[in-house]
Amino acid sequence: MKNFDLSDKISGSVSKVSAYVPGEQPQGDGWIKLNTNEFPYPPSPLAREALLAEIGSDASKLRLYPDPVSSRLRGAIGKYFGVDANCVMAANGSDDALNIAMRSFCDAKKSLASLDPSYSLYSVLAKIQGAEFIQIPFKDGFEIDFEKIFNCGANTFFFTNPNAPTGKGFPVETVEKIAGGFGGIVLVDEAYAPFADYSAARLVNKYPNLIVTGTTSKGWGLAGMRIGWAIANPEIIEVMDRVRDSYNLDRLAQAAGAAAMSDAQYYCKCVQEIKNTRRITEQFFDSLGWRYIKSSANFILFTPKKNGVESPETAADFVDFLRSKRILARYFASDPTVNMSIRLSIGLPEQMQAVMDAATQWAGIKK
Ligand SMILES: *Cc1c(COP(=O)(O)O)cnc(C)c1O
Repeated sequence: MKNFDLSDKISGSVSKVSAYVPGEQPQGDGWIKLNTNEFPYPPSPLAREALLAEIGSDASKLRLYPDPVSSRLRGAIGKYFGVDANCVMAANGSDDALNIAMRSFCDAKKSLASLDPSYSLYSVLAKIQGAEFIQIPFKDGFEIDFEKIFNCGANTFFFTNPNAPTGKGFPVETVEKIAGGFGGIVLVDEAYAPFADYSAARLVNKYPNLIVTGTTSKGWGLAGMRIGWAIANPEIIEVMDRVRDSYNLDRLAQAAGAAAMSDAQYYCKCVQEIKNTRRITEQFFDSLGWRYIKSSANFILFTPKKNGVESPETAADFVDFLRSKRILARYFASDPTVNMSIRLSIGLPEQMQAVMDAATQWAGIKK
């Protein structure tokens, strides 16, 4: 073997990247898992039936490649959002859609911008692509500074709506204003839109620079299947199709996704339950005098307080305390914009009760 130095061989952009760190996925049971915003209810029974039908008695269909263009799934997604199937690209989770958009529209000369904070995967994807990543601060109260977006000079702007990790949602008019005023590609990441009563998807008929991504991971109880999408006008879809893996969704994902997207009634009911639980959780924080951001998502970013103190140490201490009760929440220690706060998924009512009991105990409040 000749002298071989791996570090010498890595692509220039990848050599500078640290991998994205997803929330903890504990092995084994017994956890109250409120750290990665999964749906607390099972997926639609229609999804289960579709999966079983696709597997059949001998799984023989799995010998065959899946539909490369996910026709049925794209039809179901288009129907749900009121757009043409040819305005939809199906993806292996919306992270796949984000990655495809990044590779289609960013490079060393074409930069990416997003608001700070936003979904932290964007910066990793930009680095891999060798693209500059511009972070635009919010104004006070996590309000949007439109002029800063319009003048940032980026080729592409990723807008997380509702925002992660704050949960703050912005109406469709905000998306219109950005799509109309920004000269480049605008991608709206709508992972949490099912909990917000709006979607900008239909605006793709009006704005040729707009992409709206979504996922069944948060709002449809199918994070384990990896089903996502990008909605845009067909010219944009054609560009992203050049980049997309030709078989990017397996047969089971296509079948389950199409069935789930067609069962609006089931999901309406579940989402209503989650919103009720969200309201009860917010009222609990009100009763403790803890601050939180009014959420349009299936999680709440709140600031725990002990003996009158809010601080990164206090937040870290409460996360540890929750963990000792086998409750997982997400804490972004190294992000100064949110490191006094904790992001808590909205789970089942009894799971939230466990959090409330833990909070009362931790804060030393007698009820
Ligand atoms: C969870 C999440 C995603 C990724 O969803 P997948 O479809 O599971 O890949 C994308 N964007 C945001 C803002 C998310 O929170």
